[in-house]
Amino acid sequence: MNAALDSAVLPRSLQIETGIAAANAEFVALRRDLHQHPELAFAEHRTAGKVAALLQQWGYQVTTGIAGTGVVGSLRRGSSERSLGLRADMDALPIHEATGLPYASQNPGVMHACGHDGHTAILLAAARFLALHGQFDGTLQLIFQPAEETGSGARRMLEEGLFERFPCDAVFGLHNWPGVSCGHIGCIEGPAMASVDQAHITVHGKGGHGAEPHNTVDPVLVSAHVITALQSVVSRNVDPLDMGVLTVGSIHGGHASNVIPDSVELKLTARTFRPEVRSLLQQRVPALVEAQAASFGARAEVDYRLGFPPVCNHPAETALAREVAQDTLGAARVEQAFRPRTASEDFAFMLQARPGSFVFFGNGDSAGLHNPRYDFNDAILPLAASYWVALAERYLPLQQAAT
Ligand SMILES: [Zn+2]
Ligand SMILES: [Zn+2]
Repeated sequence: MNAALDSAVLPRSLQIETGIAAANAEFVALRRDLHQHPELAFAEHRTAGKVAALLQQWGYQVTTGIAGTGVVGSLRRGSSERSLGLRADMDALPIHEATGLPYASQNPGVMHACGHDGHTAILLAAARFLALHGQFDGTLQLIFQPAEETGSGARRMLEEGLFERFPCDAVFGLHNWPGVSCGHIGCIEGPAMASVDQAHITVHGKGGHGAEPHNTVDPVLVSAHVITALQSVVSRNVDPLDMGVLTVGSIHGGHASNVIPDSVELKLTARTFRPEVRSLLQQRVPALVEAQAASFGARAEVDYRLGFPPVCNHPAETALAREVAQDTLGAARVEQAFRPRTASEDFAFMLQARPGSFVFFGNGDSAGLHNPRYDFNDAILPLAASYWVALAERYLPLQQAAT
């Protein structure tokens, strides 16, 4: 037993920092081991196995197989009925790693390019400290989620009764963020990340000889007008004070310069911060595309697919996260100018079900997320693990002894 960790000599924040630092090398090694062995969505068998074994070793009650490869570690202390969920994601991406690092992926074409190896190691470092030295009263639910990258892991965990089986009064998550100084944190109340939906559009015309356009209905020309018309949705239908993004990222049609094809296919992504704007885009995109095609004598089919909602941070939980961040990292490292991001996260589903907050830890000057040269910055690991521990102890405080 390390006396310094359990005595009242040091302030609690320093006890946590010291205890986390003492075991840091073990978790950096674990993070790099996970990095070397990345696994795609719903195939995180090795990762989940490691997570479950460690949690068990530290005395957690471990449940595996939630949403396939998901793991929950539960730890109850004292008599309080309060409960807290902390979530990490475990999956990697179908990207061929180009970092050249000694611990680069040994699984060709699969890579931890979003830092979920880091998120898993951070929560495990916190889990160990909380089991060995944690001062809390209530139940901790440590949620290791599969398949964040495909946007389906969180939803499937909820469908399989996550919060009924493992009650959580609140749930918190975090993500590393390239381009923000390492050691800094961003906490945002309200929308922090965007919703994501997509539309697959097929414009049906009438193909023919490129030299005889009058005998055809040219879906290439129609598609050009459709794409141009779509620019009016954000500029003319969305309230200028709201955020909306429509990006046509894919267009395919035809093969030869002198042949007008029968059809053209378009794919677009839609991002918003508010449900009202999300519904507006869902309604306006098909209406505009279909009418635009009809005006040329063509026909458009629009398959609009809802992805996931915006990450919407709850006020009280975000205030708590900010306070804990200030105590753990120092007020100067809590980014005042951190802005919401138009990327997306399926933690949004958990925040629809329970109050909570999703925060961003600066990854320093690294390559961007989903880039083959990206790497998680190990310097974040002890800072974020200390944040988790402090948050858990603040949310599940020890009962004051009666005097
Ligand atoms: Zn990602
Ligand atoms: Zn991610």
